[in-house]
Amino acid sequence: MILADFHTHSTLDDGKSTLEEMAAAARALGLTHFGFSGHSWCPWEADYCIAQEKIPGYLAETRAIAQQYAGQMEVFTGLELDFYGERPEGLDYVIGSVHGLLSGGVLYAVDSSPEASRRAVEEAFGGDWYRYTDAYFDLVAQLPEKTGCDWIGHFDLVSKFNQQDPQFDEESPRYLKRALEVMEHLAKQGVCFEVNTGAITRGYRTVPYPTLTLLRSLREFGGEIILNSDAHHVSHLCGQFPEAEEMIKAAGFTHGNIWTRAGFQAVDLA
Ligand SMILES: [Zn+2]
Ligand SMILES: [Zn+2]
Repeated sequence: MILADFHTHSTLDDGKSTLEEMAAAARALGLTHFGFSGHSWCPWEADYCIAQEKIPGYLAETRAIAQQYAGQMEVFTGLELDFYGERPEGLDYVIGSVHGLLSGGVLYAVDSSPEASRRAVEEAFGGDWYRYTDAYFDLVAQLPEKTGCDWIGHFDLVSKFNQQDPQFDEESPRYLKRALEVMEHLAKQGVCFEVNTGAITRGYRTVPYPTLTLLRSLREFGGEIILNSDAHHVSHLCGQFPEAEEMIKAAGFTHGNIWTRAGFQAVDLA
């Protein structure tokens, strides 16, 4: 199993464990590489974000924890930078993520609840779920340029509630067309994609982001992947990694990547 995890949250944003608890749990799991990726501050000050005045403390505290584990585990100060978020200086890496769509001056979150997603589609997309998913992927396409991210977080987050509240067909050409155009466009630029198990450990879906269908296409496009848990609690660290690794291999990948001080490093999938 890959002994690394770079997408993690804490009590400074919407996580349930402290920074110290997350690092200690990562160490106890035997991780060699571990990174913090709190939600960036956003202009609308959503409660799942690290408050703007707490960003300097987040940077300082995660650096101090890195010192504390020096020689035992590489600890990185990352950030999950929302499309509309602000990027501070001094980060080791950035995960670029789209969590919401701005339409007519209203921000519609894609990941808050099935009801909120339905309202967004009714109010902003004329009831057409595929216009909604297209608009989401159009923002994802712009993430590298907008955020300078090192990899794309949860590529198909827009499908978060589609298992419990099915509204569109994730295997249909209508849905896949834009998703695959964007994926190919990004993969050919050399952008790395996260395989994210967070929705499984939190009970929203039974499969990681991206789905196996998308992952197979990513392999065909020559894309690169990095496996992450999107842990919001110590118990979620590396959650479902063995199952996700099987899926990654089933999609045709023979290696994944971890993040190091020198950037990405390929890791063979045993
Ligand atoms: Zn996210
Ligand atoms: Zn996250």
